[in-house]
Amino acid sequence: MSASEAEIRTRIVLKAEEEAWFRNPTSLPFLISDHLEALIDPADPADPIRKQFVPDIRERNEDDSIDPLQEVAHSATGRLVHRYEHRAALLVTDRCFSYCRHCFRRRFTGADTGPISQSQLEKAACYLEKHQEIHEVLLTGGDLFTLSNEHLDNLLSVLKEAREDLILRLCTRAVASYPARFDDELMAVIKRHMYGAPFMLMTQFNHPRELTSEAVEAVSRFVDLGIPAFNQSVLLKGVNDDEDVLEELCTKLLYNRIKPYYLFQCDLVRGTAHLRVPVKRGLEIEAGLRRRLSGLAMPQYTIDLPEGGGKVPLTEDHLLGEEQGMLIFSTADGGRRLYPAE
Ligand SMILES: *Cc1c(COP(=O)(O)O)cnc(C)c1O
Repeated sequence: MSASEAEIRTRIVLKAEEEAWFRNPTSLPFLISDHLEALIDPADPADPIRKQFVPDIRERNEDDSIDPLQEVAHSATGRLVHRYEHRAALLVTDRCFSYCRHCFRRRFTGADTGPISQSQLEKAACYLEKHQEIHEVLLTGGDLFTLSNEHLDNLLSVLKEAREDLILRLCTRAVASYPARFDDELMAVIKRHMYGAPFMLMTQFNHPRELTSEAVEAVSRFVDLGIPAFNQSVLLKGVNDDEDVLEELCTKLLYNRIKPYYLFQCDLVRGTAHLRVPVKRGLEIEAGLRRRLSGLAMPQYTIDLPEGGGKVPLTEDHLLGEEQGMLIFSTADGGRRLYPAE
């Protein structure tokens, strides 16, 4: 199911920076599914799939915060982050089928805390019952679909029992990294809970090569059931910081019934600086895409501002100015946050 370090070494010759990580690894483990590993072109040291999943010693750079979105401060219960009034994020597990090197939740992901326990789940359900202002819950982590079918079935039962009116967002990278997971048995679990408010499928595809026929087939199983699909991409240096690549990605997504929703500026998370694209370059790409793509194919370029400032659309409107190499942004509610210009 996944390729080990030994296996990946039989296919690709590790670069010095990659070798150095394996000698001195970070807490976010190395894990890549066979499906994704097979997409890497061993002859291309700058392969976009490789950049996202094969670790690099530059992850050891300790300049940035481990929790810039202040999710710990916004935790309502052990696993529920309530940052925005009408929506909340439930961290159902710390596990993924492959670990993205740009992971913004690396304080939590792959840390071996495992799937949500029954008592943590009940606490979250209780909070959701008390907080009727919450209309949407993101089932995220980690990856929701690393849970067993039994665990998933139980999770959905408990949440639906507490609040049948909650829109549940099924947030997953597994359609891209392990599409074989979406078999008849799993889809039967989803179908069983399709009453009350709708499900929404939230995917993450960052490069057109991730849209394999198997991945598209996995997403289609949801869309055919009437579950809309939305994609959140992360703008990544050397992966998709290019108008041609993003135009192809967004066009293919829409063609396959997946609405491009967000294009995220990389968060200021420790260990991801080498993958970040300068905001000014991002704004240029955004303007270029706006000229090339239809409104339906166009994602919203968005930044989740540091110090828990929250999400704001990245347009000239939220950019107030620049001072000593730092860009000054206004938060949605009128605050100010700094983000490095380069
Ligand atoms: C991004 C996020 C959401 C969802 O935000 P939308 O803009 O509605 O997609 C909800 N909760 C948390 C903690 C988030 O980071």
